[in-house]
Amino acid sequence: MSTQGASQGSRSKPRRVLLKLSGEALMGEKGFGLDYLSLTRIAKDLIEVHSGGIQICVVVGAGNIFRGLAGSEIGIERPTADGMGMVATVINALAMQNMLEGLGAETRVQSAIKMDAICEPYIRRRAIRHLERGRIVIFAAGTGNPYFTTDTASALRAAEMSCDLLLKGTQVDGVYSDDPKLEPSAKRYERLSFSQVLRDNLQVMDSAAISLARENKIPILIFSIHNKGAFKKVLEGAGKFTLIDDLTE
Ligand code: UDP
Repeated sequence: MSTQGASQGSRSKPRRVLLKLSGEALMGEKGFGLDYLSLTRIAKDLIEVHSGGIQICVVVGAGNIFRGLAGSEIGIERPTADGMGMVATVINALAMQNMLEGLGAETRVQSAIKMDAICEPYIRRRAIRHLERGRIVIFAAGTGNPYFTTDTASALRAAEMSCDLLLKGTQVDGVYSDDPKLEPSAKRYERLSFSQVLRDNLQVMDSAAISLARENKIPILIFSIHNKGAFKKVLEGAGKFTLIDDLTE
């Protein structure tokens, strides 16, 4: 199965993609914070795809540092806790930027919450220009609003940047009928429709993200970020993944 130009029905390779990296992807086996080896490996995977001529946007989460929900559970009011979560995504974005630049890539971090001393503010047209000039653009601070997630931010930015594909690099190699770690007979879906994901409440991305992607006809590809070289492979239609689009509806 090819993922290439899935929504357009063409087989040309995508011109511009957005990769959502959860905070957990950056912490390796550590359980918290940042892991040098994971950051380096992911950075190399990004550069491999980028040097193949595909423009790359990245949205980073912060589950390795702080999630708003965890803050509200200990009595911090939710909008404040979400602000803390968004700031934590900036930490991850700067770490990823540093790794990428250390490996020779040109990058920019754009934050939805202004932090002028350390990164650019989010400006859509400027971000597009960076991409066209061969820079990898990392979007930080989610949507800039509480009560949202970086999944929703990734669908939003993918739409704003006119991306051909939104990829989510997760802990497992696709969407399963059950938790594959607990239920060995769980089956991985090769392909799902947006409606099916919403109807069956499949835990892929939150429903706001799925709806936004569907509305803007941006296919979503779920794959394991832990397999070295998987980013390039899945873009070529190889390896294991689940593709979510509207072709099967
Ligand atoms: N967040 C937010 N608004 C956004 C995106 C993120 O308030 O638009 C906050 C929210 O508290 C969230 C945290 O930032 O828990 C980290 O993002 P997320 O949980 O999506 O990270 P991930 O699970 O992908 O690592």
